[in-house]
Amino acid sequence: MKRTKIKDILANEAADYKVNVKGWVRSFRNNQFIALNDGSCMGNIQVVVELGTDEAIVKRIATGASVSVDGTVVPSLGKGQRVEVKAENITILGECDNDQYPLQLKNKPSLEYLREIAHLRFRTNTFGAVFRVRHTLAYAIHKFFNDRGFVYLHTPIVTASDAEGAGEMFKVTTLPFDNAPHNEDGTINFKEDFFGRATNLTVSGQLEAELGAMAFSEVYTFGPTFRAENSNTARHLAEFWMIEPEVAFNDIYDNMDLAEDLLKYVISYALEHNREDLDFLAQRLVDEEKQKPMNERSDMPLIEKLEFVLNNKFERITYTEAINILLESPAYKKKKFQYDVSWGIDMQSEHERYLVEKHFKKPVIVTGYPKEIKAFYMRQNDDGKTVAAMDILAPGIGEIVGGSQREERLDKLTQRMNEMHIPTDEMFWYLDTRRFGTVPHAGFGLGFERMVLFVTGMTNIRDVIPFPRTPKNAEF
Ligand code: ATP
Ligand code: MN
Repeated sequence: MKRTKIKDILANEAADYKVNVKGWVRSFRNNQFIALNDGSCMGNIQVVVELGTDEAIVKRIATGASVSVDGTVVPSLGKGQRVEVKAENITILGECDNDQYPLQLKNKPSLEYLREIAHLRFRTNTFGAVFRVRHTLAYAIHKFFNDRGFVYLHTPIVTASDAEGAGEMFKVTTLPFDNAPHNEDGTINFKEDFFGRATNLTVSGQLEAELGAMAFSEVYTFGPTFRAENSNTARHLAEFWMIEPEVAFNDIYDNMDLAEDLLKYVISYALEHNREDLDFLAQRLVDEEKQKPMNERSDMPLIEKLEFVLNNKFERITYTEAINILLESPAYKKKKFQYDVSWGIDMQSEHERYLVEKHFKKPVIVTGYPKEIKAFYMRQNDDGKTVAAMDILAPGIGEIVGGSQREERLDKLTQRMNEMHIPTDEMFWYLDTRRFGTVPHAGFGLGFERMVLFVTGMTNIRDVIPFPRTPKNAEF
């Protein structure tokens, strides 16, 4: 018989029909009731093991074991489920030794512990929910762009361009460590390397996406990016996924609208399609909050927070306004910030979070940053001091989106590159877009894991990517 997904049985109003279900045993009660899960949804199906079932089989039913059950879907007499499966034939597909199974040994395993067994954590309710939501978010992002006629452009993972300056890079090489060829001046001779030049893992697909935008008008990338920054925070990974739309003819205001629309679209898509998972994660958060001291508790439950974001326009302020708000804040006056505030600083996460969580209490888009703290390709404003950058700051997260209108004027761009010592000859391909039919254009980078953090209410970025890569950690 063909397998039926547990999700479909639970969603089906009918009863009294034959099924085959397969999955993993979440629990086995009274030698009679199996809670079976196949990952298709949060819920388990209750399988009732009939009296008189072969003892040898019953003995092998244990938490974590995989089984195949032929039986009949019947209305359930017990509380907590509408239907259950009356088993007629049970086959053990794979046994599970409960004296060794980590998920059986630990009663309420902590998220930290589950990170150590990341290869098994998908089998918990929490991670089941998180990764189903992650999937939905990825799908919704593609759907959003596809519905709007964007071309999905695959930008390279291995790149030679090191000009982006977004972060420290991982080198890609096949040269031997102990016997690398050297130039006369003692530097390594990358001409002998695999690509005939020094290469790295990409930190962003933006520069290449810009090339695509100059032909398709609207493109986006959605791929892995790598940063060798040694920041062991709950918001940084060494390998993370980034969504980068790039749109010809868009200015900074169009760019803000696009980012706000995208965030709202994917949040509402998840609320619509993963409600059960989000309700579970919301409850998990409520339980977790209870453990915290009063003053550290967040004031809004997860679902309300997501709906609040959907129903309110993001606040839009300039960097200068943001700095003034910080300077006038009680937190600043009472010296609560660890880092000082003045016009020109690269705002620290404590500043960003003050703006969104304490001051505005909603997502904030900050524009017009000092050019000194932003990348060379951002469009220079007429004041000579700021650039058309925009960061979106989200409650509980801080920066979730970083973007800008790009400098489309060749003379301004080369002048800025020279000031920042970025070799214009090596970047001829990038500058060519400004030579051959340049147009105003804009784009941004949305960190996918930060988006997943926001929607799931999880607090550590290591818990929203299946296999996190962070300093000193790449085990699974
Ligand atoms: P931050 O200041 O938080 O380190 P950034 O300014 O370096 O971020 P950008 O270079 O603008 O970030 O990257 C675009 C987006 O990618 C960010 O808004 C964020 O959502 C995400 N991002 C950046 N670095 C990381 C990282 N190490 N891990 C996960 N996501 C990241
Ligand atoms: Mn960074």
